[in-house]
Amino acid sequence: CGIVGYVGKRNSQDILIDGLKKLEYRGYDSAGVAVYTTNGLQVKKSKGRLAVLESKLGEKPLSGTIGIGHTRWATHGKPSDENSHPHTDNSFKFSVVHNGIIENYISLKEELIAQGHVFVSETDTEVISHLIASLYEGDIVKAVQKAVSRMKGAFALGVLTEYEPDKLVAVRLSSPLIIGVGEGENFIGSDIPAILEYTRNVYILNDGEMAALTRDGVELMTLEGNFISRELFHVDWDI
Ligand code: GLU
Repeated sequence: CGIVGYVGKRNSQDILIDGLKKLEYRGYDSAGVAVYTTNGLQVKKSKGRLAVLESKLGEKPLSGTIGIGHTRWATHGKPSDENSHPHTDNSFKFSVVHNGIIENYISLKEELIAQGHVFVSETDTEVISHLIASLYEGDIVKAVQKAVSRMKGAFALGVLTEYEPDKLVAVRLSSPLIIGVGEGENFIGSDIPAILEYTRNVYILNDGEMAALTRDGVELMTLEGNFISRELFHVDWDI
């Protein structure tokens, strides 16, 4: 029930965990992170409190300057390590965190299984990572747009691919998501408190909008790919 994401110059793991702690009030039953490391995309996730994930990460920290994190409130599939987010595809090149529900996930899943995709969780979310992988032709923003056009329901997404390891993609449709703008670093979060320790400059995404973040900038666009220009919102309150 909470999403965070980071791209910048600092080690992402601690920033992700920090952000997830600030989103604890939203409730959750599992937590996880995906970080792009020198060994490629690495995922650590676990049923239970954030402390369980933190102790897993404590034993084997993930080192890398781009990552996504999630706290889950199970809607499809019981709370378990396998059903926790981030979800990946079979090539392990794409990872996704998701808040909300994909209403047509059964038909998408059947279609993807017929194409040879193998599913490892019971979630609706896992169709998203497989769908993006199946539609990818060298541009993650376009692949996400195509995938989203096939999905019905409510979702906020954070997407990371090993093929474009400098880029974080965020989507909002009927689930909250904000973008934090820093200097040489940018953030996504389900809510402002998740990123307030790092920046007070934010873009509030509206329904039907998405963003592509690198460490040096943020592009806002509609789900159809039309670019949007928007004033930064300055947060002048404290948590
Ligand atoms: N429907 C997804 C799941 O059950 C996401 C739930 C959430 O918003 O945390 O995994």
